[in-house]
Formats: sequence, C-alpha cells, structure tokens
Amino acid sequence: MDSRDPWEIYFLKLAQTVSSRATCTRLKVGSVIVKDKTVVATGYNGSPSGSPHCLESGCLVENNSCQRTIHAELNAISQAAKHGNAINNATIYVTHEPCFNCLKHIITCGIKEIYYSEVYGSTNVEDKLKKLGINDFYYTIAEINNNKFYVIKLFHG
Ligand SMILES: [Zn+2]
Ligand SMILES: [Zn+2]
Repeated sequence: MDSRDPWEIYFLKLAQTVSSRATCTRLKVGSVIVKDKTVVATGYNGSPSGSPHCLESGCLVENNSCQRTIHAELNAISQAAKHGNAINNATIYVTHEPCFNCLKHIITCGIKEIYYSEVYGSTNVEDKLKKLGINDFYYTIAEINNNKFYVIKLFHG
C-alpha cells in the first residue's frame, strides 16, 4: 500500500513549514503556489524587504490587524512576480483561510484553486466570495488521513 502523503497534504504540510519563517507574533501563516505539482513560489507573513519585523519592533495594529506585515499569500504572489514565474491557473496552499484582500489578489492573478487547513476570521470564505459578487466557484471541506482541509475551485476566466 502507498503510504505517501497525497499531493494536497504534501503541499499543505509545506505551507505549514513555510509559516515557521513568519515574523509577526500575532499569527504565523505560510503559503505555497504550485503549478504542475511544482512549487513556483512560497510566502509567509512578514514585513516588506528592508523594513523592521514585528519580532523586533512590535506589531503595528490598526483596525484590529497587524499592518506591518504583508500576508503570506501576497508575499508568495510577489515572489513569483519578482522572479517572473507565471502563476496563471496555479493552485495556492495556505495554512489559514485567506482574508478579503488576499482573496481578491488570488483571483486577479489567475490562481484557480485554494486549499487551506484552518478557518480564520469571522466571515466564511463562501460568504466572502459571494459578497465580492463571485458566485462561480466550488467549495468543499475534505479530509484525508485525519487531515481536514478546505478547498475552493474558481471558475472565472
Ligand atoms: Zn505583526
Ligand atoms: Zn490576507
């Protein structure tokens, strides 16, 4: 019997590992952008290049969230942009449910599938998408080998 992790679990575990580099003390988030089963970018929540980390300077909390850091998903998208790695039709694996802002960027840069391990925030992802006027998606909760995760497939152009 094949006891290896299925791809979903493998990449979600990678996102978890990536999150260990996060520099915000409030929450550690990691993300991995994958195309053709190949990692094309990774990101964790951290400060813009060259600016101080929450670890050193404390969080910059406004509107109840830390404004000092770039979210993991946006850091992964930025890393792909910096190195010229195409992410159209890619999949993103994240430790936590994306916020509104990350969701908008994920959609706009052409990522078509989102997997995440933990629910985060008060608005469920289905409600977020619907509030944004996006109704053409598939959402499910899955479980493999006692690993529960959430899946969103986006069908926009
Ligand atoms: Zn912070
Ligand atoms: Zn976010």
